[in-house]
Order: sequence, then C-alpha cells, then structure tokens
Amino acid sequence: MKRTHLLIIASLSLVLVANSTGTKGQQSASPGSPGSRDFVLLVHGGAGDYSQMSQEQIAIRRAAMTNAMGAGYNVLAHAGTSLDAVEATIRVLEDSGAFDAGRGAYYTRDGIPELDSAIMDGRTLSAGAVAAVRHIANPISLARLVMEKTPHVLLVGDGAEQFAKSQGIELVSPYYFFNEREWKRYQDLKTADAKGKSALLIQNDVHGTVGAVALDQAGNLAAGTSTGGTTLKMPGRVGDSPLIGAGTYANNDSCAISATGIGEFFIRNVVAADICARVRYLHVSLEEAANDVVMKELVAQHGDGGIIGLDHQGHIAMIFNTNGMMRGVVGTDGTMTIKVSKE
Ligand code: ASP
Repeated sequence: MKRTHLLIIASLSLVLVANSTGTKGQQSASPGSPGSRDFVLLVHGGAGDYSQMSQEQIAIRRAAMTNAMGAGYNVLAHAGTSLDAVEATIRVLEDSGAFDAGRGAYYTRDGIPELDSAIMDGRTLSAGAVAAVRHIANPISLARLVMEKTPHVLLVGDGAEQFAKSQGIELVSPYYFFNEREWKRYQDLKTADAKGKSALLIQNDVHGTVGAVALDQAGNLAAGTSTGGTTLKMPGRVGDSPLIGAGTYANNDSCAISATGIGEFFIRNVVAADICARVRYLHVSLEEAANDVVMKELVAQHGDGGIIGLDHQGHIAMIFNTNGMMRGVVGTDGTMTIKVSKE
C-alpha cells in the first residue's frame, strides 16, 4: 500500500447551520436578522503531498484562499445565492496564480495550459461546464454562462471559446497564463521525463485544483471546480472537474461536492454523484458516505485525492487520502479556518 494511503485524513464533521426559522426556498434578509438562516462556504485548493511545497508557496496559497473566502462570504452574508458565492470564490482563486487554475494552471505536455471547470446549482440541477479551453481567464464564469445561456451542459475547446466570444468574454493569449514557477517546474519535469524519471515526481505532486461548495441563506446548495488538470497531462485530456457527477455535483436533496485528485479515478468512480447518491438513498451521513468512497474505494484503487462536501443541513465533510489538502471553512459568524495537513 502506498505511503500516502497510510497517512490520512481529515474528516471534519461540524454541525454548523440549520436553525429552525425560515423555510427552504425562502430568501431571507441580512445575517442575524429575524428569519435569516445560517450559511456556510467550503473551499479547497488541491490535495497532495504538501511536504514537497515551500512554506513560502503555502503562505501564498493561504493568502489567496483567505481573499477568495472573503469574496464568497460577502455574497452569502448579503443573502446572495450559493451559486454566486461559488463563482465569486473561484474567480479569486483563478486570478491569484497561486493554484492549478486560471492564471496558475499547470502546463500540458505541449507547454500550453488547458483549463477545465464546472458549476452546478443544487436547487434546479442546472449545470454548466467547459473543458480544454486555452484562452479563458476565468473558466468558472464561462461554465456558468454555458449553464445559463445554452441548452447544453458541457462545451469544449474551440466551440467553448467561440461561445465565450459571443458572450463578450475576451480571449486571452496563452501568455496570460505564463507563470515563472510553473514554467520552471514544467521544464524540470520534461527533463525528468526524457530520462524516464517523471513518474515519481508526478506521483509526489501537490494538486492545485480549486473548488467551492456553499449553502446559502435560502437553503440552496451549489458546487464549482476549476483546474488546469494534472501535471504533464496530454493535450486534449479532460479530467473529472468539468464532468458533472465525477468532480462536481450539487443537489439540494442530498449534497454538494467538489473534488480534487487524479481525475481518472474520480471519473471511473463517479465520485461526487456516488457520495450524494449514498446520502440520498442509503440515508447515511455525508461524512460516512464520503469516507467510504474516498478512504475505502479510492484508496483500494490507489486513487489519490479528496473532496469537500456540504449537505442541505450544513453538515461538512472534508476528506482526503493524501497527506494534505488545502481547505477552508467560513460560516455565518465570519470566522475563517484554513488547514493544509490532517489535523
Ligand atoms: N482532478 C483534477 C484533474 O484530474 C486535478 C486535481 O485535482 O489536481 O484534472
């Protein structure tokens, strides 16, 4: 069994939320006012072996995550929707350049980032996604437009970018994504690859996919994920993040999930939808469902990664089978908690 599988876990099971006032579906006033409901936002910045990452880089990621959570919190605190909060949070992470998403996206084998993203509304089951886009600064917002302005769920490559243009989104040059740190890492990996040594380096990689799930004051769930995909992926490869049910899923009847890890395992196991289906049909807790999928089934297959999840009562699960996953929680009182390793 791999070392990472012996290490573990954070399964945080806080019961935040759900006071008895306000009914599901009702929009309420500002936080703390009579009739308002509690809300919660969870964020992740990728699972992996954080012992490989410099303290400086971890600090940069923490600062970016703090800003992103502030953006999402603001939306929720003003009685905005979970969908808006998820999008606002992920946009900040994409723009930060600190993660494997947006500006910081990892390079493909060809040296050009290709980005994937999805967003889903747990109230209506509407969903939108884009994959393998090369000229979109904020794929999460394009995913949202696919959801709201097309009859489709997933657009890829050129078609997705043509659609972006038609919506007034500026196409950026691949240089927009240029990132000294990632470029250097890419060059080192290419060199190692030529010597047949890249597999080990990639195995010890820290993923930097970003994701968010939220429960708003009206009691609605949403989930979103954005990524540059796995290190040195083949051009054209699509991971789990933009595939509804694999890396991203939200349904008010069960839960909202955003995943991170080696996408191929999350696709084969339809991880996000499977966790929510267990909650819905087996009536087990979100934590139990997520533990069974991430810590038993994925571990048995050597599928490294983790998830953040929320159910409609505000129960939280943040579970990973790697030795770290950057993750944050903020609830109604505005207190932010960000953690990296199992604690
Ligand atoms: N799940 C993402 C993918 O396979 C990568 C990650 O989470 O780091 O594309």
